[in-house]
Parts: sequence; C-alpha cells; structure tokens
Amino acid sequence: MKLFAIFGNPVSHSVSPLMHNFAIKNFSLDACYTRYLLEDGEKLRECFFALNLSGVNVTVPHKEAAFKACDEVRGIAKEIEAVNTIVKEGDRLIGYNTDAPGFYESIKEFEAKKVLILGAGGTAKAISLYLRTKGFDVTILNRSRERLSFFKDKGFKVFSWEDFEISSFDMIVNTTSAGLENDSFPVKEEILRELFKEASYCVDVIYNKNTPFLNLAEEFSLKKKDGKEMLLYQGVIAFEYFFSHSFSKEEITENMLKAFE
Ligand code: NDP
Repeated sequence: MKLFAIFGNPVSHSVSPLMHNFAIKNFSLDACYTRYLLEDGEKLRECFFALNLSGVNVTVPHKEAAFKACDEVRGIAKEIEAVNTIVKEGDRLIGYNTDAPGFYESIKEFEAKKVLILGAGGTAKAISLYLRTKGFDVTILNRSRERLSFFKDKGFKVFSWEDFEISSFDMIVNTTSAGLENDSFPVKEEILRELFKEASYCVDVIYNKNTPFLNLAEEFSLKKKDGKEMLLYQGVIAFEYFFSHSFSKEEITENMLKAFE
C-alpha cells in the first residue's frame, strides 16, 4: 500500500487528507493519505523516509524547508524557491509547487490582464511568478519594504504602503493573512475603495471565511472568489503527480469536491 501525508505545523485543521482519501477511495487505489505534525523542518527528509511515504504535501511553515530537502525541484517551484508537493521517484525526492498553478486554475475564467497582489509572502511569490508566465501584468503592494526585494530582483513593479500611487487594475488579490483572525483590511480601506472602483475581479486566498476584503468587494459588485478553489486545485494537481497522471483532472476534482460538502 502507498502512504501519503501532509506535513505542517499546525496540521490538524488541514482538509487535504479528506480531499485525497475521497479520490483514493473512488479510484479504488491501494493507498492512504494521513496528516503528520512536523515540528522541525530540518527533519522533513528524515521523516519522509522513516515513515516510508510515497509522497507528501507540505504546508506552513515548511515550504522553504521542503524546497531544500528535495533531490530535484521541477517547474515553477525552482523560481518560487518553495515546494508544497514531494513525490518519491526511486530513492530520490522530487519537488513541485502546485499552489501556483492551483491559483491560476481557480481564476482562469476571469478576463483580467493587470493584477495587483497585496502581500509579499510565500503565497504572493507563487502566484505572481506563475501569473507572469501566463502573460499577466503583475504589481506587488506590501505593508513594509523588506520582503519586496525578492520581487524587485525578479523585475516586478513593487510598492510599499508608503510609496504606493493608486492606478487602475483589473484584479486585486489578497495574499496577506489580514482578515483571517481579525477584521482588518490588507491595505487601508480608503485605498481599497479607490482600487475597487476600477477593478472587475477580487480574490482572497483565505478560505472558509467572508473576510472584510471580500465583503467590501461586494459593495462594488466585483466578481469575487475566496481561496477554496485554489486549495482544491493545488490538491488535484498534487494528486496527478502522486499517481503519475493516471486520472483526468475533471474526475479528481469531482471526487475531491466531496471534502467540502
Ligand atoms: P506569509 O507569512 O509568507 O506572508 C504574509 C504577508 O502578509 C506579508 O507580506 C505581510 O506583510 C502581510 N501581512 C500580514 N498581516 C498583515 C496585515 N494585518 N495587514 C497587511 N499585510 C499583512 O504568509 P503566506 O504567504 O504563507 O500565507 C498568506 C495567506 O495565504 C494565509 O492566510 C494562508 O492561509 C493563505 N493560503 C491559502 C492557500 C489556499 O490554498 N487557499 C494556500 C497557501 C496560503 P509584511 O511583510 O509587512 O509583514
């Protein structure tokens, strides 16, 4: 039997085991997906082999450690320098980033070109780099300057709250954790109101919560989305890697959706 897991800290809240096990059961695979509280990211590789795993997903705060733990990193994960999916190939660990294409899959129906990303953390890195490969014009706005250097070095237009000049964007994406455990906006409300006047789409990567950011977007009748579909599609793409692309995206999606019912 093949064993898969999600590594994270905390990890008890993760819906990934449910998503993957629904699909495993439906495809009658001899496999199981569990969760593992990994406290020390340095031990990721050791744990992977000790538990005799075939693959893992990796969540906060170990995505950078996962990048370092792999023998080979493929695709956009190399640029993002963060891995959320590891697959064992022989004795080697191969790393991928499925958050980035997962986000794209969730918004590809939106006819946006100019995108403003709020926040400059790991999720912002994944989303901005991937959207650029798909031809989007991406600008980053972050509360402080420190984290902006990564994006500046990669050639993105970057602003902190101090030097931001409002202009027009088609889609505004919140990748900060503002609104997750409190009622704060990811950027000052008056700035957000100006941005929403011009925008058509609004996405928050936070899921299972109507954040103040998404509530405000409703006032402006924007098309909006929370992070649920991003979560779903990162899982679908990971499952494709785990089982060597043996099933269609549509079938996997249909099965994993049951985890949200
Ligand atoms: P990081 O900790 O890497 O980055 C946090 C960023 O948010 C920083 O740029 C920080 O700014 C900014 N920030 C934090 N608090 C505030 C605030 N109150 N106001 C304004 N800016 C703020 O986080 P991640 O990128 O790892 O995760 C961000 C969010 O994405 C989380 O809520 C997480 O749950 C969600 N997520 C969702 C996924 C999905 O599948 N839907 C997948 C992965 C993540 P500064 O630099 O100034 O500190």
